[in-house]
Amino acid sequence: MFDLNNLIRENIKQLVPYSSARDEFKGEASIFLDANENSYGSPLKKWYNRYPDPLQLKVKEKISAVKGLPASSIFLGNGSDECIDVLFRCFCTPGVDNVITVPPTYGMYEVSANINDIALKKVALTSDFQLDLPAIEAAIDANTKMIFLCSPNNPTGNSLNIADVEAILNNYFGIVVIDEAYINFSKQRSFTLQLDEYPNLVVLQTLSKAWGLAALRVGMAFASNDIISIMNKVKPPYNISQAAQELAVEALEEVGQVNDMIKVLVQQREWLREALLQLSVTEHIYPSDANFLLVKTTHAREIYNYLLGKGIVLRDRSKTLLCDGCLRITIGTESENKQLVKALQGFSI
Ligand SMILES: *Cc1c(COP(=O)(O)O)cnc(C)c1O
Repeated sequence: MFDLNNLIRENIKQLVPYSSARDEFKGEASIFLDANENSYGSPLKKWYNRYPDPLQLKVKEKISAVKGLPASSIFLGNGSDECIDVLFRCFCTPGVDNVITVPPTYGMYEVSANINDIALKKVALTSDFQLDLPAIEAAIDANTKMIFLCSPNNPTGNSLNIADVEAILNNYFGIVVIDEAYINFSKQRSFTLQLDEYPNLVVLQTLSKAWGLAALRVGMAFASNDIISIMNKVKPPYNISQAAQELAVEALEEVGQVNDMIKVLVQQREWLREALLQLSVTEHIYPSDANFLLVKTTHAREIYNYLLGKGIVLRDRSKTLLCDGCLRITIGTESENKQLVKALQGFSI
């Protein structure tokens, strides 16, 4: 059975979290002499002399409204990458525990595991980039604390079959992390709708992709209140700057504008798919629920270098497991996509 207490690292259970001046005093006051800030102000907006809200409640209120989830089920990180690192530090004892990843997938799970000295068990996806459930089951042992799934997956672009993900959620009692960085480009529903059903579920999303705010560094984790509380204890107190919090609040008002951009991006994705299929260098284009295409080509490295010479940079994934000959192409603007296709028409070996 799932028991959160058995998953938390012993030192984190015992941890007395850092208590900031802003944590200790939450009432009304007009003179703040508690945090060693500069009382005279700042060269920027005058309130930037103050430490930001450690729990980012205004941002969470907006996210709560957009996603239809309670603010208490939201954790914010300095990008999803910080959410991933915090999860390792909450649940995985260095040198003892392990996690499972399902390559080819996002590289940060492995890097974060290595930084935290956590063993990694890699269970390859099947040739159609779906979960190999028997192999995952065989890889799980008593010290397997987390399984990282990514749907839609990077770099393959496809969504994982919902029934397969549910099979893991139902039968594995460690933490199941589902990274939904690209969910806004997909027709598949988000697993955030099932948080109540699965106490072992953590869903990651981000403002970096569909929301167009990669520079702001705001990532989201959605989970049970208990998991969120542990993550809040472990994170650096002021992990989201005041500027990022203010801009995130402003951006989260613009759901309509973002949905319009998503529609255009998805149209461009399908236009680019058709255009690339006309080229002799294209062997196969995998289905994509994301804002990129994984394209199997005849001469990946040569095409990559040729395009670089023309100032166009793609991601060469041709040396990645199951991705022989593949380039990962982010969907650009209409004009960028046209320039890409035009450049490719001039390629010859
Ligand atoms: C881009 C991406 C992220 C985003 O990371 P941030 O730190 O939020 O910018 C997370 N997961 C996957 C799979 C991604 O491709």
